[in-house]
Amino acid sequence: MANNSDCYPHFWAILDPLPVALLYKESAKADIFANAAARQLLGVSQSDKPLSLPQLSEVRLLDQQHHKISLLSNPLLLALSGTTLSKQVLLDIKGSITPYILQSQLIKLQFSLGTTIIVTLCPLQDSAGSAVANPSAYSPSVDIAELEEALAFDKLMSLISTELINVDSEALDQHVEDALAALGEFCHADRSYLFQFNDDLSEMSNTHEWVREGVTAHKDNLQHIPDNALPYFFEKIQQDHIFAVADVSQLPPEASSEQEEFNNEDIRSVLCTAMLAGNKLIGFVGCDMVARQRNWTSNDLRRIKLVGEMIANSIQNVNYRVSLQQIQQELLTANQELQKQANQDGLTGLANRRHFDEKLLEELQRSARHKQPLSLILLDIDLFKPYNDHYGHQAGDEALQQVAAALITESRRQGEIAARYGGEEFVLILPSSDSKACLEVAERVQKHIKTLQIKHCKSDVAPYLSASIGCYSVIADKNTSAKHMLSKADQALYQAKAAGRNRIIVAS
Ligand code: GH3
Ligand code: MG
Ligand code: MG
Repeated sequence: MANNSDCYPHFWAILDPLPVALLYKESAKADIFANAAARQLLGVSQSDKPLSLPQLSEVRLLDQQHHKISLLSNPLLLALSGTTLSKQVLLDIKGSITPYILQSQLIKLQFSLGTTIIVTLCPLQDSAGSAVANPSAYSPSVDIAELEEALAFDKLMSLISTELINVDSEALDQHVEDALAALGEFCHADRSYLFQFNDDLSEMSNTHEWVREGVTAHKDNLQHIPDNALPYFFEKIQQDHIFAVADVSQLPPEASSEQEEFNNEDIRSVLCTAMLAGNKLIGFVGCDMVARQRNWTSNDLRRIKLVGEMIANSIQNVNYRVSLQQIQQELLTANQELQKQANQDGLTGLANRRHFDEKLLEELQRSARHKQPLSLILLDIDLFKPYNDHYGHQAGDEALQQVAAALITESRRQGEIAARYGGEEFVLILPSSDSKACLEVAERVQKHIKTLQIKHCKSDVAPYLSASIGCYSVIADKNTSAKHMLSKADQALYQAKAAGRNRIIVAS
């Protein structure tokens, strides 16, 4: 219809995009106007021309097959063609659609309910079938500017609310401000704002504010207002969920604090609506009139409630998301801690046997893939039983911890792992190390343990705690097993023990 809009009634621009199917006919003309939804419903192409009557009967047939006959067999449509339409358009809706519409012709809006909602416009008639002369007897008419504004507001809100659905906490602020600005503009208010209560509802803070140009902002002065500062307001908003004051000077005597506050800010009219999260009051949205008084309308109320609900839902969404993220993070941290514990030896903090087994397998495969050498060092503390017996188990534990720390210090290269293999036995995995490099590490370890100078008076090997070490290096192939490597290193260790302890043997 964009190309040929002259032939359409002037209000058609509003009816055309409505999400209900609309048919409209003027008595003097044969043309029948079907809006976009109606055309889609009737299977008529979206041409820019009104439908002619013959065209409509084709539609009727087509429709019958699709069980949509009720629309066109409806006498309302016949009534349309025969009656002169008067100046005023009225609305009579049998349903739950918000009543707006038109003011140029006397029309009745009806829609049949069912799976499809169909709205037809027809001249308003009294029970005898003649056109009603005095439309004011019917539901209140709304002027076209107001209708346009209502549609524009709803469209804007639907946009903002769509964006609000998935916002994070930062974007939320911007969208709340957009919603408040829309509310302020559309309600012709001077200021609109959002207050949030603390948990026990003992105080409120102004978190967002919109002001018309030239109007003073008050947000910064309205933080942490205690309930006893504005007791009348606190009670009203908590009990009634609404605080509507058309004229501040008419407030009752018990609202003296509120009146004083409003007067200080030059506020003449106030409209606030509570925001609930579940059943809990979390805050309120409000509008002020500054320096001029104003009677709030049902439209203002509808808008402010809509904005309040939208913001409350978004705040809840964001809160849910934030607490979900917190829980998720806690779980993640707990999981990492568990994972660490599962791989760690409790006494020494080294990798445990389980983790060692896994890593040795990985390194064997890597060695076979890259034809790189892999070395293993097996270390057993000399005469640790007599050490324990003499110095006590506690001292024994501490000695194990010191040896473990020495092993960590001496296996710092990328990929090297020190593990506790058994009671007083330790093992090092040295990837990319041949037997020469392995021997160097073993010697460093032996030297390091010596420098610890852990007194061992029951040892006949040395006056200080010492260890015997077995080394084994290999370039693995797919047949090289972990068991093989360990047994080779163990044989070398046994030889070191047999040869007098406190020494290193490299397995051939
Ligand atoms: P060798 O030189 O032949 O290895 O002599 P050893 O005494 O070290 O050998 P043996 O295997 O007989 O003794 C190992 C001792 O290590 C036995 C046990 O009391 C001690 N031990 C094992 N695990 C722990 C531990 O976690 N804490 C302490 N304090 N002692 C441990
Ligand atoms: Mg042992
Ligand atoms: Mg031992």
